[in-house]
This record gives sequence, C-alpha cells and structure tokens, in this order.
Amino acid sequence: MNPLSDKIDLKNLLPSELEELLSSFGKERYRTIQILRWLYQKGVHSVEEMTNLSKRFRQELGGISTISTLHPLRVEASRDGTRKFLFGLGDGNRIESVLIPDKRRLTLCLSTQAGCALGCRFCLTGKRGLKRNLTPAEILNQVLAAKEMLAGEMPITNIVLMGMGEPLANYENTLKAIELMLHPDAFNFSSRRITLSTAGLLPGLERLSKERIQVRLAVSLNASNEEIRSRLMPVNRRYPLRNLLEICRSFPLRRRARITFEYVLLEGVNDSVQDATRLLKILKGIPSKINLIPLNEDPDLPFHRPSEERVSRFQEVLMKGGLMAIVRAGKGAEIHAACGQLQGKE
Ligand code: SAH
Ligand code: SF4
Repeated sequence: MNPLSDKIDLKNLLPSELEELLSSFGKERYRTIQILRWLYQKGVHSVEEMTNLSKRFRQELGGISTISTLHPLRVEASRDGTRKFLFGLGDGNRIESVLIPDKRRLTLCLSTQAGCALGCRFCLTGKRGLKRNLTPAEILNQVLAAKEMLAGEMPITNIVLMGMGEPLANYENTLKAIELMLHPDAFNFSSRRITLSTAGLLPGLERLSKERIQVRLAVSLNASNEEIRSRLMPVNRRYPLRNLLEICRSFPLRRRARITFEYVLLEGVNDSVQDATRLLKILKGIPSKINLIPLNEDPDLPFHRPSEERVSRFQEVLMKGGLMAIVRAGKGAEIHAACGQLQGKE
C-alpha cells in the first residue's frame, strides 16, 4: 500500500459505495458483484487480474483505484497449533492477528486498532496506548492474509474481533469491515460466526443495538462490582458497570442467543467465591455465558494467575448457580498470542 497515493483503496468501499463508483463509469450493477468476488473470494492484488472486465475498463479503474494487501512480516506457530501473524502497516505501525484451531473450528482473531486507548491494567495491548484506528481495508486484509497462508488447507470458520484494540472505538471502520465479511459476494460469513468483543463503550453499544447488521456480542466484564472494575478498567469510571448491564439486558439477541461475558481471573483481586456469587447476581435476567480466562501473566503486569483449584472453584460456583461457564485455555501463550498479549512487537 502506498500511503501517499490519493487513489481509492477498493477494499475501503462498501458494496453500495463500489456500485456508486462503477455507475459513475456507466457500469452495470452486476460488475459490483464481479469485483467483490475478485477482491475477497479470489484475493487478487491488482485490477489487472480481473479478467472478466474489459481491458479498457481495467485501465480506467486502475487509474483511480488501488488494491491494498498486507503481507505478514512474521508468522509464528505454537505447539498447540495456534499461529500468530505480525503485519507492518504502510505507516510503520504494527498489528497482529491470531489463528486458533479448536476441534472442527478455525477461528481468526482480528485487530481493529493499532494499540488501544483504554488502558486496562491487565492487558499488554492497553499498556502501550493507542497508535491509530485501522481502516476497513486493514481489517479485511488480515482475513485475506490468513486465507492466503492457509491456501485452502482448511477454511476459517469463525471470526472474533478480539485482537488489538477496542472495536467500538473504531466504530465506522469496524462495521464496514463486518458488512463485507457478511456479504454473500465477499467473505460470506454467517453472522453467528462473527463475534465482536468490547470493554463496554456504551455509546457504541447503544448504536450497535440499533444496527441492521447483527453479530454475536462479547463483553469484557472482569469484575463483579464497580469498585473492582474501575480499578482494573479505567473505562468503567466513564461508563459504569450498572449502565453496561442495563444495555446488555435490553440488547437485541436472536432466539436462543446469549451474550458472552469475558472474565479475566486475577489472583486475590476478582477470583473469590464472593466474586462469583456476586457475578451470578448481577447477570440475572441476561441470557449469558461466561468465558473465564485465567490471566496470561507477564513480568510487565502487576497481577498473577490464580491456581487451577481457585479457577475450578470459581467456575463451580457459577455452574451451580445455573450459568454456563467455560475456562478458556490460554492458547498460543508460548508465542505471546493469547488474550491480552498482542503488542505488535518484533
Ligand atoms: N478491547 C476488546 C477486545 C480485545 S481484548 C475487549 O476488551 O473486549 C480481548 C480479551 O482479552 C478481553 O476480554 C480481555 O479481557 C482479555 N485480556 C486482556 N488482557 C489479558 C490477559 N493478560 N490475560 C488474559 N486475558 C486478557
Ligand atoms: Fe483495550 Fe481490550 Fe486490552 Fe482493555 S482489554 S486495553 S479494551 S484491548
């Protein structure tokens, strides 16, 4: 990608915007479908490769537009099968994505920002602050790069927006990218297989609840009361837990769908039986399931991972109280690819 070029990056356009562009060339609607397929299904790198368009039109289109790509600077593989991609953006910033195999699923975890501004105390991405928002093209190119590396070996079955960044802090670009992930002529993912994870930016959640596009929702809870949550997640001072839970309670969900609440377990901070009991209470009435994530430790973080016994006891209290609670294995930890470990470092 050439950041100095003022050409339009075709991957930054919604299908409706692409259609508008093409109609300005006097082109028919079905051309939009053809181009979407070239971009996202065949993964071409130039307009020149779109051989069902006339040579003349390819030249015209190529004159005003480009097709950006992301090539990994490095791909690391972990013994558990997890693979981590490091990408260099046009302006020198770095981002990461992670491919996580799990039985019959292959999940791709995408970044939506370079860094993150929210500064959760247990998260390495947050420690390094926000560099900038990613463009829709930069979000989509992570999917294309992973697909290219997999070379048909296995299809990506699920997408989670849980990599670097807070998706709702980059609202428009993230939603644009999601629309293309769902579009039948682009990636054609089912909306049940895309999960957006947020630390709870309430204006964004409010807006998301009114969108035509529906994806699965995950909320990073990490505490059972205001005091602990504010200590761990500064965002809670602005958007308190009680308001977050209120929005969750009224969030439109499909039939039988639930909100996933993520809960990073920190020894002696939020992992007591009392915390679990409080958690049961505050989630009453919200169709929920809980992902318990024992902290992925790092010398730069001031917390510790609780013992397995403590984790199991916490889980047991939740299950006995009727909540579905899963302990998420810290996949990819050995290559620093697990939750909260993405920093874009080389
Ligand atoms: N910003 C969004 C999505 C990216 S963070 C969000 O916060 O939801 C993805 C998940 O990683 C969050 O649920 C967060 O709670 C978790 N996480 C962050 N740091 C972690 C760490 N050190 N160990 C385990 N999980 C962590
Ligand atoms: Fe940002 Fe999510 Fe990390 Fe918090 S947990 S700092 S919101 S990436």
